[in-house]
Amino acid sequence: TTERTTPKIVLVTGASSGIGEATALRLAGEGHHVVLGARRTDRLDALVARIRADGGSASAERLDVTDRDDVRTVVDRVVAEHGRIDVVVNNAGVMLLSRLDAGLVDEWDRMIDVNVRGLLHGVAAVLPHFRRQGGGHLVTVASIGAHQVSPTSAVYSATKYAAWAVTEGLRQESDPSIRVTTISPGVVESELAQHISDPGARDLMVTYRRNTIPADAIARAVSYALAQPADVDVNEIIVRPAAQR
Ligand code: NDP
Repeated sequence: TTERTTPKIVLVTGASSGIGEATALRLAGEGHHVVLGARRTDRLDALVARIRADGGSASAERLDVTDRDDVRTVVDRVVAEHGRIDVVVNNAGVMLLSRLDAGLVDEWDRMIDVNVRGLLHGVAAVLPHFRRQGGGHLVTVASIGAHQVSPTSAVYSATKYAAWAVTEGLRQESDPSIRVTTISPGVVESELAQHISDPGARDLMVTYRRNTIPADAIARAVSYALAQPADVDVNEIIVRPAAQR
């Protein structure tokens, strides 16, 4: 038998758009219960309604991953309600690209807060539960940017290298009941690039983001990692458009 037949309790952060939304939809379609976390609760409520209309099981939690207490409260509530938490998909992220000499220090802080601290808050909140319940699965949505740096990506890449390192460190430290997966997407359709404020970086993205793949391509990778038997740990998957160089 495969794990696919066992419904899991899954928390997806950043589920209000893009990769998180697609992941929630796919996992709910496979029979898992998905808890959707993000700040835009109107989006989450609409997604819960869509999942339930399709016969799936979902709930929504307002969640700001930069707030440590917020993350712990949501994770604890999931456990109080369902008795356990099997999977956390740490997906929430921002990509505010700019050259270092543009000096957009507030945006550097924002990326560190969401992409690094947000991930660490998720890890800190869930590990005690994984230990107590005898296992669990942590999925980190990193990026191609966790493997390469290019002009305007220095700080974003730094946060994604960090996300990669935290996830790999957890793998090395954990006993085999805890599985750890890093998914590193290439250019994927989402709202990610819409928040870039730097004009030069925006221009670069027009060319860089010409070839995209749908967010469900990443959701399928998450699904694959989750569906493996408990003794198989899929540690990293890189998924990019075939046309991406
Ligand atoms: P989107 O902008 O579409 O989604 C980002 C999600 O993160 C939203 O749901 C947003 O929800 C959430 N988010 C942002 N800040 C916070 C916060 N403080 N607390 C909680 N949630 C937050 O982009 P993607 O779907 O593309 O991004 C998802 C992940 O994929 C990111 O980590 C990104 O770095 C990574 N990635 C994406 C690639 C791409 O090409 N699209 C390529 C490589 C990696 P809300 O605003 O409602 O809080």
